[in-house]
Amino acid sequence: MYSNLKNIVEPERLFFDEPMSRHTTFAIGGPADVLVNPQSIEEIKSILSFCTRENLPCMVFGMGSNLLVRDKGIRGVAIKIGDCLTAVDIKGNDIMAQAGISLSRLAGLAAGHSLSGLEFAEGIPGSLGGAVAMNAGAYGGEMKDVLVSCTALDERGQNLIFNQEEMNLGYRSSIFQQFSVVIIEAHLRLVKGEKEEILARMAALAGQRQSKQPLDMPSAGSTFRRPEGFYVGPLIEQLGLKGYAIGGAQVSVKHAGFVVNRGGATADDVLSLIAYIQDQARTRLGVELRPEIKVVGEE
Ligand SMILES: Cc1cc2nc3c(=O)[nH]c(=O)nc-3n(C[C@H](O)[C@H](O)[C@H](O)COP(=O)(O)OP(=O)(O)OC[C@H]3O[C@@H](n4cnc5c(N)ncnc54)[C@H](O)[C@@H]3O)c2cc1C
Repeated sequence: MYSNLKNIVEPERLFFDEPMSRHTTFAIGGPADVLVNPQSIEEIKSILSFCTRENLPCMVFGMGSNLLVRDKGIRGVAIKIGDCLTAVDIKGNDIMAQAGISLSRLAGLAAGHSLSGLEFAEGIPGSLGGAVAMNAGAYGGEMKDVLVSCTALDERGQNLIFNQEEMNLGYRSSIFQQFSVVIIEAHLRLVKGEKEEILARMAALAGQRQSKQPLDMPSAGSTFRRPEGFYVGPLIEQLGLKGYAIGGAQVSVKHAGFVVNRGGATADDVLSLIAYIQDQARTRLGVELRPEIKVVGEE
């Protein structure tokens, strides 16, 4: 049945039994039955209607920088938007960009046009679509501050437009985490600034990341959401779990808020480590830690 996808997508952009470890920054994850790199919005529409017609499960992801894919992998079709749809149009203070562009690159382009507001995005290793779905943010800024609207496709490939309010953006959350659509484009509005100042701020933030985060090891960023009144890194350190490991998954020795893949980690290793940290935080400190990373794939 999957081979019928060859009528929609060129064979070079269809990958059967594709290890998701090649497509996640964690370098973890079993195979997707089929992974597709779409080249156009029309192609995504056709893939979505094909999956709906054939009753095949379908999931979308960007650059896999916030994803933990289970070891059994993904049943059905995984559409990888990251790096595929990357067109950008900048007019005045407004940016219309397709969802697959890297957020860091978009921040760089905005800076080049002396537009301020996306400096926080420097160093977030995801796509624009993923950043909208996650309401990504850092150092006091978040996507909510700059998003005007976005366009998405439903499971039949129909266009849906969401204004800011309809996206229901909150701390690392959006409406797109509750029902499944494919974000294809976003409209951002920034403010005019001084190019040199914008670039200097971005460089400073990149330096801060470099000095604090384990960027030399595979991870999916902050493992947990920040609980009210606590910072996750110090909390995990307080539990004595900095450097604690299960299999190949380890609490980073550089920043305890990150679980890293120290080599050969499985998704089960990461999930066991997460469950252990949650249990320790709950029983010893009475704090409920909830994962920020998205866990997908067959259980
Ligand atoms: C070293 C490191 C540092 C990080 N620092 C930060 C940080 O400072 N702040 C922060 O917020 N995050 C951070 N992250 C996490 C991650 O980069 C962000 O959440 C990013 O926005 C995810 O984008 P992505 O394209 O990789 O999404 P993915 O990981 O591919 O997907 C994440 C979720 O979004 C959904 N999604 C992705 N694309 C689409 C789309 N086009 N349409 C619909 N749904 C979609 C997926 O289904 C999934 O549920 C960091 C990660 C790493 C590895």
